[in-house]
Amino acid sequence: MKKHNFSAGPCILPKEVLAKAAEAVVDFNGSGLSLVEISHRSKDFVAVMENARSLSLELLGLEGQGYQALFLQGGASLEFLMVAYNLLENKAGYLNTGTWSDKAVKEARGFGEIVEVGSSKDENFNYIPKGYAVPDGLDYLHLTSNNTIFGTQLKKFPKSDAPLVCDMSSDIFSRQLDFSQFDLIYAGAQKNMGPAGTTLVVIKESILGKVSRQIPSMLDYKVHIGKDSMFNTPSVFAVYVSMLTMEWLKNMGGIAAIEEINERKSQLLYSEIDLNPVFKGYAKKEDRSHMNATFNLTEDGLKEDFDNLLKEAGINGLNGHRSVGGYRASMYNALSLESVGVLVDIMSEMERKG
Ligand SMILES: *Cc1c(COP(=O)(O)O)cnc(C)c1O
Repeated sequence: MKKHNFSAGPCILPKEVLAKAAEAVVDFNGSGLSLVEISHRSKDFVAVMENARSLSLELLGLEGQGYQALFLQGGASLEFLMVAYNLLENKAGYLNTGTWSDKAVKEARGFGEIVEVGSSKDENFNYIPKGYAVPDGLDYLHLTSNNTIFGTQLKKFPKSDAPLVCDMSSDIFSRQLDFSQFDLIYAGAQKNMGPAGTTLVVIKESILGKVSRQIPSMLDYKVHIGKDSMFNTPSVFAVYVSMLTMEWLKNMGGIAAIEEINERKSQLLYSEIDLNPVFKGYAKKEDRSHMNATFNLTEDGLKEDFDNLLKEAGINGLNGHRSVGGYRASMYNALSLESVGVLVDIMSEMERKG
């Protein structure tokens, strides 16, 4: 039976990417060896890493502008720490828009003063703070572009003379932005790019080397840049699958093309949420995420019915995060418009049944 995978992460990946990845695990490039049993220093794998690094800069439109792309380990969670280790000397600003920003703040404390420039904690993160002031003299300002758990997304990014750092784990490569406004972007692969095990870090080299502390080698962006993202054994499978997904995206027309499809998907779902009295959206309308749509039933008693219909239709991963409850439909790049259609049909069936 066909499954419709709305999982928040690890995420759905394109079928053709999974097929190619499966082949490479058995026989990589016709070498008679598996991708996961060859040296990461072999010509074939070095080419994969180089291709993955350059594809990420190409898709973001950041080639030739002083940026480096790295594929590191430790997840986005380790970036919470690495960002502070490498960039925080005196004072950094954080916009607190959800659980992940909250965790990023926690890791950065102890490296310097943390200024929470804005927070939506007062309403359990169902909106994006606006009109906040960004103080001068920050080492950097940290943002989370898409709040995976709460279903909100930044549409406008603040201007600041401090370097902008952005956690784009759950909306990387999903929409067109002027990516050159950011000085450091990081994204755990498993939300919108590949399997768990690698994190894309795109960094403007000129912001490095400004803190006085000693940085342990594995946590030092400069060390990873100096070794072409091969300081130690990279997560070869995760990098390879991420590369395949980026090739898939490039072949379909890049971020501009996927953005159009992502907008159609989210419009279809949100208009159903708004028109259907059985459901109610969680996030404030103007801050809604195109990737993760959070919603609740207006009557809890309908839960069993709805859950049964979801199961019958092969819909996977629609449960909301425990801190929000209800439902969350994650509509990452590889999810088809057709799958959203299947979900919307079930939602209208719930309304008809009354
Ligand atoms: C999932 C997620 C993280 C944590 O990623 P890990 O790779 O599991 O460490 C961080 N930030 C955001 C926005 C996420 O969605």
